[in-house]
Amino acid sequence: MEKTILVLGGGIGGIRTARELNKQIGNDEDVTLAKILVFDKLQTSLFAPSLTWMMVGKREMYQIQDDLDKIEVGGIEVVIGDIEAVDPNNLTVTSGGREYKGDYMVVSLGAAQEDYLKLDEVGFNFYTAEGASGFHEQLKQFDGGKIAIVVSTLPYKSPVAPYEAAMLVDSYLREKGIREKSEITLFSPEKAPMTFAGEDVSKNVLALLDSKDINYKSEHELVDTGVGALSFKTNGKKVIESFDLMAFTPKHVSPQIIQKAGLTGSTDWVDVNEKTLETKFPKVYAIGDITNIPLNEHETLPKAGVFAQYQAATVAHNIVRDIHGLQPDQEFKPEGKYILEQGDGKASSVGGNFYSSEIEINSTSAIQHWVKILHEKSWFAKNF
Ligand SMILES: Cc1cc2nc3c(=O)[nH]c(=O)nc-3n(C[C@H](O)[C@H](O)[C@H](O)COP(=O)(O)OP(=O)(O)OC[C@H]3O[C@@H](n4cnc5c(N)ncnc54)[C@H](O)[C@@H]3O)c2cc1C
Repeated sequence: MEKTILVLGGGIGGIRTARELNKQIGNDEDVTLAKILVFDKLQTSLFAPSLTWMMVGKREMYQIQDDLDKIEVGGIEVVIGDIEAVDPNNLTVTSGGREYKGDYMVVSLGAAQEDYLKLDEVGFNFYTAEGASGFHEQLKQFDGGKIAIVVSTLPYKSPVAPYEAAMLVDSYLREKGIREKSEITLFSPEKAPMTFAGEDVSKNVLALLDSKDINYKSEHELVDTGVGALSFKTNGKKVIESFDLMAFTPKHVSPQIIQKAGLTGSTDWVDVNEKTLETKFPKVYAIGDITNIPLNEHETLPKAGVFAQYQAATVAHNIVRDIHGLQPDQEFKPEGKYILEQGDGKASSVGGNFYSSEIEINSTSAIQHWVKILHEKSWFAKNF
């Protein structure tokens, strides 16, 4: 009998899962060996790693998103609408008032964003296309003053993004000839940049910021906002910082339907078997930003698209083996690289095995910048 696989979320993890399943199952134009239903509330899928380029006018909306229904090849069908309920016991999903039953379920619903201290009223949420382009509109008119890049709360996805944003803005202002009249400050509750990657990487990123005259204010916990001003708690004291233009990372929360479904575990996120990505429910997997994968006592695997894609490949492979009555034989390894853009057409890559202390940042080069562009181009070419 034809199997049905429910893929919850048509973002980076969900699209890769669907595509891999389709290929490995052997679905073709007129051959459907398994049905793959992809559920998403949005008709377009955004490639979020390009948002920092959008902040500095290097990308337009049409270049970083595409229609989700273009992934409908072979046995893939897209169901657009808010997912209203998920029942992992019975392997069902409800969307648009209709219940869909599957034989397997892969949850890749990402991190939801929640309002925090009415930040939207005073700055730009650069984790959305609207926020990133709104920031750029203001940046075009900016003629000097204070720019703040703010990490509002922890955890947040793509731990390189705020650093990348600050460096791209620096490069933009230098090109415009107004860097001397401007101050860029990055505020974060973190102790140091990217602590999960080890001390060397942290120090390297700090040195990069320093070389570009970008102020870094660590252990600054945002507690209040006002027009042109932010209040932080730091070292037990309250400090107020003024700004002329501000971009922020939003508060990340796990989607409520996932909490209601009983899929969350020791944290608000979904606990999984770190090798197979299976949840506590049989035949239900979770991948990407929605998962909680501890690396050690203090750190968890960063929420990054590169890992969502590797996890998608592992899960798809193992589901196909299971369908064929074979033992699943692939394990996810938290190894990978992501690119830290630094402006001026240069970047470096940060990566290695995230269970070890062997994470490295390589030297700044134009090649890594082109690698990042290649990732973006191949994302659209491969999937849409
Ligand atoms: C500014 C920025 C820069 C980044 N840079 C990088 C980078 O350089 N490298 C990197 O590896 N990663 C980067 N990332 C992170 C990367 O985008 C995420 O880690 C990745 O998208 C996670 O994939 P996912 O499938 O888990 O979630 P997502 O891609 O967020 O997909 C989740 C999907 O679920 C849908 N959904 C959620 N709730 C519902 C519901 N109730 N009903 C229906 N649909 C729903 C959403 O619409 C969405 O399409 C960046 C992110 C940002 C914001």
